[in-house]
Amino acid sequence: MLASTKVQSKRINYYKNEKHMLSISSGWLVQAEHLPSPFFSPRELDEEISLLVVHNISLPAGKFGDNYISELFLGQLDCNAHVSFNDLRGVEVSAHCLIRRDGRVIQYVAFTDKAWHAGVSSFNKRERCNDYSIGIELEGTDDIPYTTEQYQQLIALTLCLQDQFPAIIMDNVVGHCDIAPIRKTDPGPVFDWQYFRQCLTEQATRNNT
Ligand SMILES: [Zn+2]
Repeated sequence: MLASTKVQSKRINYYKNEKHMLSISSGWLVQAEHLPSPFFSPRELDEEISLLVVHNISLPAGKFGDNYISELFLGQLDCNAHVSFNDLRGVEVSAHCLIRRDGRVIQYVAFTDKAWHAGVSSFNKRERCNDYSIGIELEGTDDIPYTTEQYQQLIALTLCLQDQFPAIIMDNVVGHCDIAPIRKTDPGPVFDWQYFRQCLTEQATRNNT
């Protein structure tokens, strides 16, 4: 609770047109660093993107700032670099975007393609969430508070994606823990859903008035 109070005390100053600060061109976020991953597949032509999944990742667990996450998503991770990476041999995973601790965004897969982030999953009784979702990773863990910059960027990115893909209604912005509850816990109890949703709603209202 302390963590969320801390973040809430740093109210984010939005502007009416903030959603236009981020923009998407041909499935890629213009403001992100682009590192195209080989781990993606095309979406079905008639598939509507209707779900946004928030994750966390850190490599090694609890350590921030290295490039290991990008190397994993690009299939370039040296699994000898750390003892915990042994489990990652042969693993082929990706996400659309990573938001680093300082708020910088790296994109690996075009939003118009499927990233391999959800695994075995189900949302509203519909399985295979990768087929119809976008996956955003926060550099972090389940128990270390996320940074203000990460919340700020995640809110701006979510609004931008909702603008581009209107089927991602507010109820369809969830955590990995919600679509794979037995296997996954991310983004963890430390993620302040109340604050995140409140900022999203407030900003969406402002953008529409
Ligand atoms: Zn996850």
